[in-house]
Amino acid sequence: MEHRPPIRIAVSGCLLGEEVRYDGGHRRSSYVTGALGGAFELVSECPEVGIGLGVPRPKIRLERSGGAARLLGSRDEDLTPLMDDYARQAATRFDEARVGGVVLKSRSPSCGMGDVKLHESGAVISEDGTGIFASRLAAALPEAPRISETDLESPAHRDHWLTRVFALAEIRELAAGSADAARLYEFHARWKMVLMAHSEGTARRLGRFLAATRDARNGLPRYREEFLAGLAEPASVGTHHNVLLHLAGHLKKPLDPGARERLQSEIAAFLAREVSLAAAVRSLAAWAARLGVQSLGNQAYLAERPKSLAYREGIYRDERPAGLTSGSPAGPILPVGTPATTRR
Ligand code: SF4
Repeated sequence: MEHRPPIRIAVSGCLLGEEVRYDGGHRRSSYVTGALGGAFELVSECPEVGIGLGVPRPKIRLERSGGAARLLGSRDEDLTPLMDDYARQAATRFDEARVGGVVLKSRSPSCGMGDVKLHESGAVISEDGTGIFASRLAAALPEAPRISETDLESPAHRDHWLTRVFALAEIRELAAGSADAARLYEFHARWKMVLMAHSEGTARRLGRFLAATRDARNGLPRYREEFLAGLAEPASVGTHHNVLLHLAGHLKKPLDPGARERLQSEIAAFLAREVSLAAAVRSLAAWAARLGVQSLGNQAYLAERPKSLAYREGIYRDERPAGLTSGSPAGPILPVGTPATTRR
């Protein structure tokens, strides 16, 4: 297990069980408080309380006005400028506190992302709006990966978000230290396989970039931007399968034929969605450790993560092969507060 400084995650306060909702209640998420709370340092944030709305308070709403979304109070007062300022300040606070990820409450006109009811002239015109706090935060702090508590229930979404959180923490560490060329190459060698699963083109382009660059300190900002952008692309069962085959290639020589066949059939079982990505990765990592294969020893793709996170557990295994992308929910596997249909 790696020992690194704790990663800070900002979380909508109501998901932590704080009674800050408009009705004086909360939406405590057991995955957030239990699994994430055990692995990360959680920072509570409630923007509606932050802008001075009390608890309890009248419900506020997202309204389309003049082509833009506005945050309106119960007497139609425009709360958008207040929330704009507050979100900017929160982004600065998060940045200074080195927040490395954000979990926001779904369907809230402040915190929701892409699933908020948008009103116009008293009617709901869509349910794919984004809350004002969430949208301003995304613009001011684009590096920090964001996810809702409902998407945390999807193994594929959860895996993708956690991968980005781990990657951001490490590249920040790299940038904070002396970014000499050797450390940057080492970082790329460690993360290349993860990047391959999300964006093979970016992994290859950055490999060429590093081969040509002489100045690691000046090259790092471009590397960081492209690396994080590449990881923001979704992976799929096929791209993970390619990576697993590639890594298994390093074990070809030291493995005896029987063991090689077992490993290959495990990787084939992953492609057939019979075993989870976690199982396939665990198997590869165990063989690499047992055989002492140095080229795999420091691979981020094989790194052990806190068990409580259920990282890569269930991923792709329960998804139907046809018509689903890697981002498609596989159905909830972890309890996250109240059932989605009854939430805000
Ligand atoms: S959804 Fe956001 S604004 Fe609403 S209670 Fe939760 S933290 Fe506060």
